[in-house]
Amino acid sequence: MKTNLLDFDLDGLAAFCLQLGEKRFRAVQLFRWIHQRGAADFSAMSDLAKSLRDKLDGCAVVASLPVVSEHVSADGTVKWLFDVGGGNAVETVFIPEDDRGTLCVSSQAGCAVGCRFCSTGHQGFSRNLSTAEILAQLWHAEHALRRRLGTDTRVISNVVMMGMGEPLQNYAALVPALRAMLDDHGYGLSRRRVTVSTSGVVPMMDRLAQDCPVALAVSLHAPNDALRDHLVPLNRKYPLAELLDACTRYLAHAPRDFITLEYCMLDGVNDSPAHARELVDMVSSRQGAGFRCKFNLIPFNPFPASGLHRSPDRVVQAFAQILVDAGIVTTVRKTRGDDIDAACGQLAGEVMDRTNAVDRMARQRTIPLKPVH
Ligand code: SF4
Repeated sequence: MKTNLLDFDLDGLAAFCLQLGEKRFRAVQLFRWIHQRGAADFSAMSDLAKSLRDKLDGCAVVASLPVVSEHVSADGTVKWLFDVGGGNAVETVFIPEDDRGTLCVSSQAGCAVGCRFCSTGHQGFSRNLSTAEILAQLWHAEHALRRRLGTDTRVISNVVMMGMGEPLQNYAALVPALRAMLDDHGYGLSRRRVTVSTSGVVPMMDRLAQDCPVALAVSLHAPNDALRDHLVPLNRKYPLAELLDACTRYLAHAPRDFITLEYCMLDGVNDSPAHARELVDMVSSRQGAGFRCKFNLIPFNPFPASGLHRSPDRVVQAFAQILVDAGIVTTVRKTRGDDIDAACGQLAGEVMDRTNAVDRMARQRTIPLKPVH
């Protein structure tokens, strides 16, 4: 079987080239052809020696993912559904803005964490994506968008690992993909513009700080353990105190001087003024230890199986105001791509669940979610 070169960061590709008897600078050339120029055909790589191109033809391939569908929203958002085999498909979303182009990338087919408000979580988990499957989403999106816009310059300036899956539960495949995104011979993205979003896999947050410290977003969604246990089941393993301590440790290595805390606003569940004040206390009590954060309030995108509803705008604004009045930087996420189900929490893809998530979620729905105050 041929080796897919999308599976490598530059060091990995250099090791592969070494096996072929080729020096590192050849790997750099190859890496630039693949990631900067979007080339998949070795015969087009004109500055590589013919002998190397012949070798590569015999043992390697640049294989992206088959596109099942592509939808373009009225607001310019693009959503791709990629086939990853075995009846699974993952989603990737491009969000254009005036000053940036952001790609939301999936890391797993499904997700085992099972957050109550997340449509991916409701689909269960099938498997981790490989590095090639993670990078192929960026490779395809970047070069398809360049062709469409008729430009040679970079279209995607930011990547957020916020699509399907918990990226830190697929750490071994994630890190080489991040390195290719950051590499000046690859996509050359700034560490500040590549964000890993986690529901709080504490040991892996510590490893990421050492191995590849990019911007970090944490799916918080609740101000106390009692509520977070229900909304984000991983909290039972890594409760809030441990999670926030890990955030503080991460900040010593992070490219930004704050952690983004994501907070999905659920009507009557986690959106009261008392919840906001509890968050203020939580943040203030940790500032002395060096904890710095920014809140991103996310309007919930309802889907029938969740049994949950979106907080009214006035409730979201009042909640935000309490945080802002306490001096905490707070934004409310604009919903984008609503018309193509590309908004946050709507990425569903197709997952051959191996975890009985549907039954598990149905049982959870019998637990009433009520404000704890
Ligand atoms: S919010 Fe993230 S961690 Fe939670 S179920 Fe959805 S994809 Fe998984």
